[in-house]
Amino acid sequence: MNDLTALYQEMILDHNKSPRNFRKISDTAYHADGVNPLCGDELTVYLTVTDDIIHDASFEGKGCAISIASASLMTEALIGQTLDDAEALFKQFHDALTKDDASANLSNMGKLVALDGVKAYPARVKCATLAWHTSHAAMQCSQKQVTTEIDDV
Ligand code: ZN
Repeated sequence: MNDLTALYQEMILDHNKSPRNFRKISDTAYHADGVNPLCGDELTVYLTVTDDIIHDASFEGKGCAISIASASLMTEALIGQTLDDAEALFKQFHDALTKDDASANLSNMGKLVALDGVKAYPARVKCATLAWHTSHAAMQCSQKQVTTEIDDV
């Protein structure tokens, strides 16, 4: 394992142990539930949106280290973004982990790069993308539960 891989692993373990923005936002229409039945990950994502800008992002739930760390890193990345930019981030993150294309990666996505290694473990990709699918639904005020087994993950 090289130093960079070790650093990324440490970041994932840290965000799993002390997830950032792990709380409920009560008075918002922008929330959604997501499940990844393959692993048992269950998340609820909350967003505070005014004038198309995400002022606050949070999540609750339970799941494996990858799903919790990904949700934690995602909330940090989403706060301050416009809804359009957040959708672009979602697409970029999703493509980086699901497309068989070396140019699609997380290297220019700040701390999210810590999850780049997940691509090598196809069974864990849905753990990493669950929070993003859930926030995608939350942004559309879609109250229906998203699942990684129905959506095109
Ligand atoms: Zn998982």
